[in-house]
Amino acid sequence: MALVVQKYGGTSVGSIERIKAVAKKVISYKKKGYDVVVVLSAMSGQTNYLTSLAKQTNKNPKKRELDMLLSTGEQVTIALLAMAIDDLGYSAISLTGKQANILTDNSHSKARIIKIDNTTIKNHILQGKIVIIAGFQGCDKKGEITTLGRGGSDTSAVAIAASLQASECQIYTDVDGVYTADPRVVKNATKLSVITFEEMLELASLGSKVLQSRSVEFAGKYKVPLRVLSSFEEGQGTLITTEEQQTMEQPLITGIASSKDEAQLTVQGVPDQPGIASKILKPISDADIEVDMIVQSVGEKNTTDFTFTVRTDDYENAKNIISKTAKEIKAHKVYGQNNIVKVSIVGVGMRSHAGIASRAFSALAKEGINILVISTSEIKISVIIEQKYNELAQRTLHNTFELDKTKKQ
Ligand code: ASP
Ligand code: MG
Repeated sequence: MALVVQKYGGTSVGSIERIKAVAKKVISYKKKGYDVVVVLSAMSGQTNYLTSLAKQTNKNPKKRELDMLLSTGEQVTIALLAMAIDDLGYSAISLTGKQANILTDNSHSKARIIKIDNTTIKNHILQGKIVIIAGFQGCDKKGEITTLGRGGSDTSAVAIAASLQASECQIYTDVDGVYTADPRVVKNATKLSVITFEEMLELASLGSKVLQSRSVEFAGKYKVPLRVLSSFEEGQGTLITTEEQQTMEQPLITGIASSKDEAQLTVQGVPDQPGIASKILKPISDADIEVDMIVQSVGEKNTTDFTFTVRTDDYENAKNIISKTAKEIKAHKVYGQNNIVKVSIVGVGMRSHAGIASRAFSALAKEGINILVISTSEIKISVIIEQKYNELAQRTLHNTFELDKTKKQ
């Protein structure tokens, strides 16, 4: 019998009323003849609330205890959903990550799934039960509870779907699919019916919040067909699949993403010598700060200017470190800014077309938007611009590439 894994996010299980609605949806699949495994998030706001309780108690709580605390959010919803399904006359069982044998490494708060021993899950399915598993959590080989990082229940769902070779992993959320741009910003954004894993991975890591990027990575690796759809309304949502499975001609650009979580640092007048890039970046990476974009440009008289971007939270720390380094290497000055955004266009169609970048840049220039940093890959172009231009840039690019005319399959 075909098996589907359905994951419901925080707003989809945000109240008892919503949980009862989810119970009905799950049962409707069971009635159609599917085996159903459900993965849940905590009620919306709950994980933040628990985090705030921890912070009020101890400014720097042990990650083990934080995982112990945060994992409780999902235990509430799985138990309630099992009760709701039971109340409608169907058989269900809730399982924690540990009970479902989701084995992770021991990096608390950002654990990675190593293996799932699905025997227990399968036995329950064979007994005709709807199996409901707590997302976002697992346990390490010592039996300690771990969590997978914020938004991690998407990854739980995909991993479970891969392990069970589910025919589809459905991610139910509060939007009805993946759009060409954020519809709150770009009014004529259109819903995509299909998108490739690669494109979705770029969009997710470049700021689109629909799916946790690690879940997309996982789904691509194990070729688990993923579908994002609304738990509030009917519809086909957006299917995320391999490029080969797409039947229509690829549009040039599939979507636009924007991320505010960016800060820029520039070291000006760096003596131009071999090894400078690593001298600048080593102390930054030693401090566990992730560097995103890097640009080195020619400055005056045998010097270069070195620019890179980091996450907003790491800005002050990175600036302090880089100021020390600048003195050591006798650079002229350091400056940085926090009020920037990264706007990106993504599409596998870019591979086979030249001139996309110049079209994008001239469209931005026409609007008077100054580009601070550029980075490109085979299927994406990202620009760093001042935050005040964020929405204008997204709309401009959306219009330039006529994404409002994206055909629906
Ligand atoms: N409850 C967790 C969070 O809010 C995990 C998830 O919802 O995916 O991050
Ligand atoms: Mg989520």
